[in-house]
Amino acid sequence: MKYYYDTEFLEDGKTIDLISIGIVAEDGREYYAISKEADWERIDRHEWLMKNVVPQLPEPRDRPDLWKTRAEIAEEVKEFLLFDKKPKLWHWYGAYDHVVLCQLWGSMIDLPAGIPMFSADLRSMMTTGQAMKLPPQPEGLHDALEDARHLKVRYDWFYGQSKAPEVGKFFRVVNVPAFNGMTGVITRKWQTSGEWLCDMVPSDKPFGPCDEPSMFKDWVFSTDQIEII
Ligand SMILES: [Mg+2]
Repeated sequence: MKYYYDTEFLEDGKTIDLISIGIVAEDGREYYAISKEADWERIDRHEWLMKNVVPQLPEPRDRPDLWKTRAEIAEEVKEFLLFDKKPKLWHWYGAYDHVVLCQLWGSMIDLPAGIPMFSADLRSMMTTGQAMKLPPQPEGLHDALEDARHLKVRYDWFYGQSKAPEVGKFFRVVNVPAFNGMTGVITRKWQTSGEWLCDMVPSDKPFGPCDEPSMFKDWVFSTDQIEII
């Protein structure tokens, strides 16, 4: 299962100290916590954090349930990530985030079994040279949970785009036992909940765009169920 996460932290070129962490699981579960043990005196003197991060944090008196020790956060994050035994971590410009996350458990060799030793960076996947206009984040920038939520939005958008079927393409049905091996041509495509669907015209050979795709509207497959040939 994929986990999208973000952290806010205090760093000075030598150390990285967790302030808050937000994680969104692929199945919709969410986790958010703030470290009671961050160095709040130094944070108070850090202009950028005071302007961008601290205003996003709920007050301890309003949400005492979210303010936790590092040990509590470490235990809860471990439980959250190992829910399905095969977590895959995603972040955004996240080299520092990965270190902050792993240091919850100590040094590199202390990482609990099952927690991946790397996180995939969605930003680094977008280096194809192709200009991409990402969905903007409507609110909550530098709120770790809001940032993690938006990372999932961007992930779904990015992989949704790259999997978009092309009208007119000839394909074979796979992963649908009753139809496997049938071939056809895509006549229409649309996206729902991040998944691309397409109408098809059954055909044993490629042909140009179809004039009446609506005649075949009952033939709908997701892009995971076809392969372009
Ligand atoms: Mg952030």
